[in-house]
Amino acid sequence: MATVTTLEKTAVLLEPLKEDVKVGNTSSCCSGHKQKPHLVSYECLPEFLKHNEFIIDYYRSEWPLKDAFFSLFSVHNETLNVWTHLVGFFLFLSLTFSATTSNPMDVNTMNATLANSTNSFLHINDPVASVQLLTAVNGSPTSELVANITRWPFYAYLCGAMFCLLMSSTCHLLSCHSQHTSYIMLRLDYAGITSLIVTSFYPLVYYSFACYPFFQNLYIASITVFGIAAVLVSLLPAFEKPDLRWARAGLFACMGLSGLVPIIHKAILYAGKPEAMITTCYEMLMGLFYGLGVVVYATRAPERWMPGKFDLAGHSHQLFHILVIAGAYTHYLAGLIYVRWREVEGC
Ligand SMILES: [Zn+2]
Repeated sequence: MATVTTLEKTAVLLEPLKEDVKVGNTSSCCSGHKQKPHLVSYECLPEFLKHNEFIIDYYRSEWPLKDAFFSLFSVHNETLNVWTHLVGFFLFLSLTFSATTSNPMDVNTMNATLANSTNSFLHINDPVASVQLLTAVNGSPTSELVANITRWPFYAYLCGAMFCLLMSSTCHLLSCHSQHTSYIMLRLDYAGITSLIVTSFYPLVYYSFACYPFFQNLYIASITVFGIAAVLVSLLPAFEKPDLRWARAGLFACMGLSGLVPIIHKAILYAGKPEAMITTCYEMLMGLFYGLGVVVYATRAPERWMPGKFDLAGHSHQLFHILVIAGAYTHYLAGLIYVRWREVEGC
């Protein structure tokens, strides 16, 4: 209950910022253009900002762009939505820098890394046993790298994740400005989600099917076309209607679920191979995070059970953001294994 107490204290501190609004008295709901920007309640919002009736207060409504931007550093009901994905963006930016500046790993390092992963997933407590298991497949731990495989699919994924996180963060920060801004920002947000899903396929498909160009091209082309179609559908004005929350979640969930096809195909093709097994485990974990995220997003839990209690912290969209970062980071770990797998084995 300590959290609730802290939230209540924050709410008291925010009182001077809030408009003195009586529910149902629309004359006291002002746009914010004519007076100093302040926080308003759900009833005062224009239709384009009414997305979740279970979040009752602390809204920014039609704030000037400059004030909306600097609200990055103030408390309102979107603050944590902005910061969760902004922190995620910087996390992926640092991962990208470390990936671009690192040299291809030697087999010893790779085996040690894979051994740790194997320990985690297979609960093998003896690292020596893990290394033996892996070297049995990869050959001698002292053998040389046999291939300098391209890393573009891995970098494409990192860029897709960063684009998604940055667009999401910007959308949450600036959409309150106007209906037109909200329309553009939401489209960029949907494009970001699509880019994250599509580019997630690239390392999985490119490296798993490096020796099977037909399937490699088929899967990469299919998900790319699916992604372009999803972006086009999201351009329809009807797509952002609150009633279509399940349709939006369903479209992105279907895109993600179509990843099951190459994952199962890979598992069959490389049955018993440690790299295939570990990456599949990571992918299942990623699916769990994303799946939970979709359910939380669409059901709007927990705020639906206690409207107004999670306005500032703990509402569904913040949980959804955290689950997205967890899923994306899990896929990054799988990507590292894919790259090293092919750097060692080639095709
Ligand atoms: Zn969001």
